[in-house]
Parts: sequence; structure tokens; C-alpha cells
Amino acid sequence: MKTKRICKFMAILFALAAVAGCFAACSEQGDEPRSSYTITAQVDARQMSVSALCEIEYVNRTEVELTEVWFHLYPAAYRDGARYTPVSAAEVEGAYPHGVSYGGIEINGVTGGEYEIGGLDEDILIVKLPESIMPTESVRITVDYKLKLPNMRHRFGYCDDKINLGNWFPIECAYEGGFASAPYYSNGDPFNLPVCDYNVTIIAPKEYTVAMPGESSRTEEQEQGTARTVCKLDNARDFAAVLGKFQTATANANGVEVTYYYTFDDKAEEHLKAACDALNYFSGAFGAYPYKTYSVVQTPFNQGGMEYTGLVYISDAARDKMITEVIVHETAHQWWYGIVGNDQVADAWLDEALAEYSTSLFYKNHADYGVKYEDRIADAMGGFSLYCELSKCSDTSMNRSLADFANASEYTYMTYVKGQLMYDTLLHMLGEKTLVGGLENYVSKCGFTTAKPDNLIACLEETSGRNLKSLMTSYIDGTAKLYSIGG
Ligand SMILES: [Zn+2]
Repeated sequence: MKTKRICKFMAILFALAAVAGCFAACSEQGDEPRSSYTITAQVDARQMSVSALCEIEYVNRTEVELTEVWFHLYPAAYRDGARYTPVSAAEVEGAYPHGVSYGGIEINGVTGGEYEIGGLDEDILIVKLPESIMPTESVRITVDYKLKLPNMRHRFGYCDDKINLGNWFPIECAYEGGFASAPYYSNGDPFNLPVCDYNVTIIAPKEYTVAMPGESSRTEEQEQGTARTVCKLDNARDFAAVLGKFQTATANANGVEVTYYYTFDDKAEEHLKAACDALNYFSGAFGAYPYKTYSVVQTPFNQGGMEYTGLVYISDAARDKMITEVIVHETAHQWWYGIVGNDQVADAWLDEALAEYSTSLFYKNHADYGVKYEDRIADAMGGFSLYCELSKCSDTSMNRSLADFANASEYTYMTYVKGQLMYDTLLHMLGEKTLVGGLENYVSKCGFTTAKPDNLIACLEETSGRNLKSLMTSYIDGTAKLYSIGG
């Protein structure tokens, strides 16, 4: 996600790892068999509900015998009475412009095993298998469910004439000695997902264009007044779609079809070009973008933007240069979160700091955009110092769970902003070519896996031939003394 712009003014308002490890830990996982999801969803735009059937070929990617399988039910966070709400109290006004509204998910039936709803907030579907499955074995599970969409500007919901379908189907919990079942924290992006394959069909009133993250085809069904949009996307971290009445602009970026879906934007071509420039630059720097299409969608959203594999949200509230900045940031997430995954609950800084710093690198290499790298770093330093001074923060660690940040501003300063400062320090130590080469190495070794901070450090060490662990760890754990302040 790209949060609202951090600047000194906002700060005042808010005031109140080993070389061998890189290869050993990350390789081997990317080509393993993975689960596949076939979803057929019918959208009722009058009731603002979705009826769906999700057929899952679940592959046991763990090293243990499984007797049950867990799935996140993220839409449960949008229901009335949820213990973990999708937005904090401070964000309610911006997220619900038409008043607080609730959504949710109802499970109509499951085949492939008995099921129960569990988790910290009735947000986990637990399917108890009739026969256990061993590592690499698979099982077929189908979930018949119905979604109620909340009227809100968020990952999941509808607002004005748009429908955001983010995190909208039962998706398997990562397994790390047990199923990871973190609830929906309002800070950050509370996701930790393995890559899967997707075949998705969305049937919706034909007035709607359906923005999809992969190659899609659309067939109109005249009698029903509907259109069926079908999309296949393999090796993806997640699958999101946005429905709306859009204008579109399309361009080709080195073989990738880039489409900008927008409603009001008198600089649409400029913003389409920014998406292409960012995709080309990051492909050259970090490794090729692995999908055939990329969709950038202007839609109601209460933050700057949101990343999904092959498709990103750009808030319709963003204006002028902020639109470009959000596009670049979300495009960087295609590498940091998408290709190289990480636990965004436990290690949120891992993808956010890189997405934000990659945005700075983009501007450094594209002077024609008129944003100076040095100014962005100076803003980050100034904002971070002021935030620490005014909030008297005693803990500047980056490696906290989303649940352990006091509020959204602390989360933002310790992940995005401090992360930029760490990478700028590395740039001065190693030079841009070596730093970028280290990040390319990280993509190469950890692509399509869920990386840990030590993997990143090890890859940077491997490329640079330098010992970086103590320096990076001091930033990450909050013991580094940054200039005149304690953090
Ligand atoms: Zn982000």
C-alpha cells in the first residue's frame, strides 16, 4: 500500500544477515507445485453482493502431514461486530464517505471435508480432511459462498460506480510450523500469502468493465444483460479485480500490455507512461516483470494505492504528481510483495521500505519527472527526525508485527520512511550499481517465495562482498543512532 504522503507538516499533525543463507533459504521453492483456484463469481450490482464458487486444488507445500487446511476469510473483517476492523477509528470518516456500512462473507457449503469457522475473529475457514495429505499431495476443496459488499473506499467494497474485489475469496493460510492466521489489522497490509494459480470468471452487468490482472476475455450475454470476463493468472501472490464504468488507455511496455483504467484524469496518457516507465525501469533493474499484462486502476480507496499481482489500485483522490508517485510505488510492489513475497504482518518493512526506496531510485534515474532523489531522502530524514522528536518515540525498531505499532503514523515512519534512510545509507556505502545488483540477486534467489529479512541481507552481502548484517540489523532493531536523534 502507499499511504498518504509523509511530509514535515504531517509529522507535526501526527505528533500528538550470512552470504550462504541467501541461496540456502530461498532457492528450491519457486518451482514447487502450487495450489490452483478456479473461481466463478456472479455480481449482483443491485444488492451489492457476489455469489461465488471457489474450487481449490490445494497442494500440501508444507513438510508435514496435514489433517486439515486453513483459509483466510478476509471479507469477515468488514462485518458488523468484527473485532479487528479494516480501518482504524481515525480513518472511518475517509473510508466511509456515505456513512459506516458493513459487508461480510457467508459460507453456503464446502466439499472436500467438514468445516468450521475459527481464528481470532471468526475469519478462518478450517476444512478437516477425510484423509490426511502428505507433503506434495493435493486435495480438492470447493467453497460455495456469498459476499456482501460494504459501501466504502477500501480494498473490498463498493463506492460510487466502482466495485473493489480485493482479498475476496477463501485463500490458503501460509504454513510456518502451523497455519498463519493473523487477523485483519487496520495498519499496513495484513497479508502473508504463498503464490498460487488462478482461473477467474466474473459475471457482471454488461455496463461494467472488469479490470483484471492477467490476460482476459469478455463475452456478452445479451439475454441476461451480463458480461462474462475470464482471466488466467499463474504464479500470483493474490488475485484482485475492479469493476466500474471506465475509460481506458493502453500501451506496450517491452511486450507487457499496460492498461490504465480511469474515470477522471486529464493526464491519463502521462500516467499511463509513468506506469510503463516504472515497469521498464524496474524490469531492467531487478529482473523482468513475469506477467503479460499490468492493470493500473483508478478507484475509490482511502489511502494512496494498493498492490495486487498484475493489478494495482490508485486512489481516485490522488491528484497531480501524487498520482505518478503512487503509480511508481505500486509498480515497485510487483517485485516487493508480488514476485518476492514476505510476511506483511511480521515483516511489513521488507516490502514497503523497498517499494518506497525503489520509487526514489526511479526518480533518480528519470530526471524528466522533476523529482530529486536528494529531496526525497532529505524529506524522509527531516520527517523521521521530527516525528521522533515530537512523539518522543523510544522504540524505532522496524521489525514489529503490525499489531505492535501504536498507530498508522508510527507504522509509516518506522517502515517506509526509516527504510528509505537505511537504503540510502547502503547506496552511499556500496554505490547504486552494487545496491541494485544486490536487489536483483534477491529477486533471482527469492522470487516466488516468502522471503525473510535475513534472505535480503544475505543477498546484498553476496553481491557486494561486504558484511552488512550488523549495519542493517541496527536499523531494523532500532539500535542504530541516526544523526542527532536516538533512533
Ligand atoms: Zn506500499
